[in-house]
Amino acid sequence: MMPRIPPSLYVAPSLDTAIDALAERGAEGAPLAGGTWIMRAPIRHESLRPAYVGLGRIPELTRIEIGDSHAAIGAGVTHVRLAEALADAPDLQVLAEAAGRSANPAVRRAATLGGNLCASDFAAADLVPALLCLDAEVEIRSRAGTERLALGKFLSIRQSLDPGQLLARVLIPRAPGRSAHARLPLRKAGDYPTAIVSLSVTSDAAGRVAQFRIAVGSVETVARRWTRLEAALAGAPLNAGIAHRLATELAGEFTGRDGVEAPGWYRVSVLPALVRRAVAALH
Ligand SMILES: Cc1cc2nc3c(=O)[nH]c(=O)nc-3n(C[C@H](O)[C@H](O)[C@H](O)COP(=O)(O)OP(=O)(O)OC[C@H]3O[C@@H](n4cnc5c(N)ncnc54)[C@H](O)[C@@H]3O)c2cc1C
Repeated sequence: MMPRIPPSLYVAPSLDTAIDALAERGAEGAPLAGGTWIMRAPIRHESLRPAYVGLGRIPELTRIEIGDSHAAIGAGVTHVRLAEALADAPDLQVLAEAAGRSANPAVRRAATLGGNLCASDFAAADLVPALLCLDAEVEIRSRAGTERLALGKFLSIRQSLDPGQLLARVLIPRAPGRSAHARLPLRKAGDYPTAIVSLSVTSDAAGRVAQFRIAVGSVETVARRWTRLEAALAGAPLNAGIAHRLATELAGEFTGRDGVEAPGWYRVSVLPALVRRAVAALH
């Protein structure tokens, strides 16, 4: 629902001023990053907040640092920049693909990493499963200081962040390996994905598979790791057919969410094919 008075917008010049402005506005305010989720609030029958604090001019939030052991990505980095910056890193390919294939070109130019992770009612966010399978952590900044949390933990508390708590960066550990993102939109582009499978495989010094991490998005209300399939695949050869068979045996543990674009049973039924596609893409 639209408020009778249009919301106010304060564009913060720094992270500290944004945190102060949000703390002062309390429950009346919210951060505004690319605005692509917020702009659709009326379509979702949600109220806009009376006051927004714009994050788009904060240099710190737009930094991307890709080191040998870690990548650190500011919450204000857009999907387009993320896809470009990670294009040549095989271990981070899953995130490059998630960012480069989500939504449509206009949305990808505006939508940010932070907005994708903080839109708490958005089950079909592409970057969430991609970052879960990379074992990412998030950095939350507030007047009290900086707190680091595993992404899975952040997803469970993001709806109850205090007004002055901002997602500042995402930290991703790096290891030699490969990764892939498989998603099923009902149309070719511009659609939310019905189901998403993100996977990452790291290798030991001898090139053997050391760890297999798989995350599923859009099937349930919040994306999560598929730890039973990870365990079943541990030690198995990296083979798309085997992965498909094991995923078929284990898919019943998901309770698909019904939505206007697809019923819950359909989201679950396409999971084994997405697993096969993601594993095949690693070769
Ligand atoms: C037509 C269309 C198609 C789309 N298709 C896809 C798709 O296929 N895949 C996909 O993943 N996404 C898709 N999206 C959604 C889009 O990717 C998300 O809306 C976007 O990532 C949100 O980022 P934003 O910067 O626009 O966030 P905003 O709309 O600015 O904010 C979203 C929420 O996050 C909060 N927030 C933002 N930044 C922070 C921060 N740093 N700290 C704390 N809270 C913060 C805001 O207060 C708000 O609650 C689509 C959107 C549209 C309009």
